[in-house]
Amino acid sequence: IEDADAIAARLETLAEDNRRIHEAECFNLNPATNVMNPRAEALLASGIGSRPSLGYPGDKYEMGLEAIEEIEVIAAELAAEIFGAHYAEIRVPSGAIANLYAFMATCRPGDTIIAPPASIGGHVTHHAPGCAGLYGLRILEAPVNRDGYTVDLEGLRAMAQAEKPRLITLGASLNLFEHPVREVRAIADAVGAKLLFDAAHQCGIIAGGAWKNPLTEGAHLMTMSTYKSLGGPAGGLIVTNEADLAERLDAIAFPGMTANFDAAKSAALAITLLDWRVYGRAYASQMVAVAQALSSALEAEGLPVFKARDTATQSHQFALEAAAFGGGQAASKRLRLAGFLACGIGLPIDPVAGDMNGLRIGTPELVRWGVTPEDTPRMAALIARALRGNDPGTLLPEVSQWRQSFDQLHYVI
Ligand code: PLP
Repeated sequence: IEDADAIAARLETLAEDNRRIHEAECFNLNPATNVMNPRAEALLASGIGSRPSLGYPGDKYEMGLEAIEEIEVIAAELAAEIFGAHYAEIRVPSGAIANLYAFMATCRPGDTIIAPPASIGGHVTHHAPGCAGLYGLRILEAPVNRDGYTVDLEGLRAMAQAEKPRLITLGASLNLFEHPVREVRAIADAVGAKLLFDAAHQCGIIAGGAWKNPLTEGAHLMTMSTYKSLGGPAGGLIVTNEADLAERLDAIAFPGMTANFDAAKSAALAITLLDWRVYGRAYASQMVAVAQALSSALEAEGLPVFKARDTATQSHQFALEAAAFGGGQAASKRLRLAGFLACGIGLPIDPVAGDMNGLRIGTPELVRWGVTPEDTPRMAALIARALRGNDPGTLLPEVSQWRQSFDQLHYVI
């Protein structure tokens, strides 16, 4: 029993350590995470999640689920509203599983898909080691256009005509400029393929209207992670306007891949979506403004900001070319010592042996904590010193002290 108590106490300490690292010691430059609205966090821990949820609202298998049914309906309706979609599937454990659901709804094992490669931020879930490969799909890498950090349309058209894919995917772990969704939809239509937009990262600025909605532009399906720019609980979400795909997704979710799902997560997601309803436009445009200001400030420091066009980004994310720092992961380790959290990413430039050739930077959490464009020259100077100096750890006290002055959450109801 003593051991159990000691281990439990250790876990509680670790949770506090984690909060200190992310919410006091370091600035989070990683766009793949965010801080949740405290009301959403409270709902996550409110005891809803251990209750059953199997079945449809009004027709649940277990009894006493009237409250949980209503949560499920509110969350699904808000998700559809925020993404301008007819159908939203919320019973999805993660962004990765959202992609698996999308593959299952559109393809059979053995079918061919075309997906963005890692050099333009393509995610492993679309490739052989990820759920696309595990589901038995044949995956072809889309040709790349460095201009815009996206797919090459002529090459993609030729590949689609030759290979007759069942599905083409767009959307990546780094997105700098809007992808040519309409054009890719036309390429897909010409060969009878569906188009999936993976908005794991872009869903926030799509929700806030700072990035064209891929569904409106022609994507048949849009998958998401709910804890990145969206700022919600860890989970996944899929939206579509296609009734037949919605029906298939529904059957994949239940009775297919989930029986009971986490209703606490649905409640927390609903609060998050209300944040977007109330503050989404302001939050999304500030994320983009801070990303643009920080990329310019880093460039002014002489750092190698990756330029896929004449500006670094139209998004809430951008990248540095990382060869000068030994690669993206090596650079991230230096930044961690100084109190900045980031990670590597693939860029369509020369590879770095044993590491990634880019360093990804994003602004969802910075902006939630109130960082503005005016703060970016000071931040860029600290980042430059951390990347170039001999002992980045000496910067930590200054960075942490500054970080702690950002102690109010913004854009949350
Ligand atoms: N798709 C893209 C483009 C991603 O960057 C990620 C990130 O992890 C995922 C899917 C998977 O999302 P999750 O981590 O929610 O499973």
